[in-house]
Amino acid sequence: MSERDGRGAVSPRANGAVERPRRGDVPAKRASRLPAPGQGFGVTFAQIFRKVTTEEYPEVPKVTKPRYHGRHVLNRHPDGLEKCVGCELCAWACPADAIYVEGGDNTAEERYSPGERYGRIYQINYLRCIFCGLCIEACPTRSLTMSNDFELADDNRQDLIYTKEQLMAPLLPGMEAPPHPMRLGDDERDYYVRTPDTAQPTDALGVAGRAAARPVEQA
Ligand code: SF4
Ligand code: SF4
Repeated sequence: MSERDGRGAVSPRANGAVERPRRGDVPAKRASRLPAPGQGFGVTFAQIFRKVTTEEYPEVPKVTKPRYHGRHVLNRHPDGLEKCVGCELCAWACPADAIYVEGGDNTAEERYSPGERYGRIYQINYLRCIFCGLCIEACPTRSLTMSNDFELADDNRQDLIYTKEQLMAPLLPGMEAPPHPMRLGDDERDYYVRTPDTAQPTDALGVAGRAAARPVEQA
C-alpha cells in the first residue's frame, strides 16, 4: 500500500527515496536515560571491544583470493618459447579496447613461438582494463593469464600502458630466452597435442609463472 501525504500525493518514502529533513523539523531523540555526551562516548567505548579491521598495508601485503583477477602474464612453453601466437583474439574479446597486438612471422633463424606467428607487439592499457577476464577466456593457447598482482597505480598515464616485455613471464630454470629453435619437437603439434607419455606440466608452469611474475620490478 502506498503512503500518501495530506494532499493525497505519494510520499517520497513510498517510492524508496530518502526523506530529507525540512527546515523547522525537530531532531528525533534517542530513547536513552544517559545524557548526550554519555551516549556519544558509549559508541566509542563499545568500539574498543570489537575486532580490529585495520589493514597494515603496504607493510603487511594483502593476500588476495586465489582466482583474483590481477595483472596479466604472457606465459612461456617449458623451453622458453612464447605461447602467444599473435592471433589478436584477446584484443577482439576485450570490451574496453584495452589490448593492442601486432603479430609477426617466425623464421627458421628467428623463432619466438612454435608455429608461424608470434606476438611482435603486445600492450595492455591498464587505464582502460576492467579486469573482467574475457581476454584470458578467448586466448586459444593459454598464453594470457592473470596474476594476483594488484599494485598497478602510477603517477602518469604512459607508465600504465604495459608492454610485452613487462607482461612476459620470467624465464624459469631450464628455459632459454627466445629466439631459438623448437626444443620440444620438430612440429608445433609437439607443443600442444599431448598423450600420457608426452604430457607437459603446462598448468604447473602457468601457476609457477603467476607466482614468479609477482616480484618482477616494473620499469
Ligand atoms: S581483463 Fe577485460 S578489460 Fe582487461 S584487457 Fe582483458 S578483456 Fe580487456
Ligand atoms: S595472448 Fe592469446 S589471444 Fe592474445 S594474441 Fe596471444 S595467443 Fe592470441
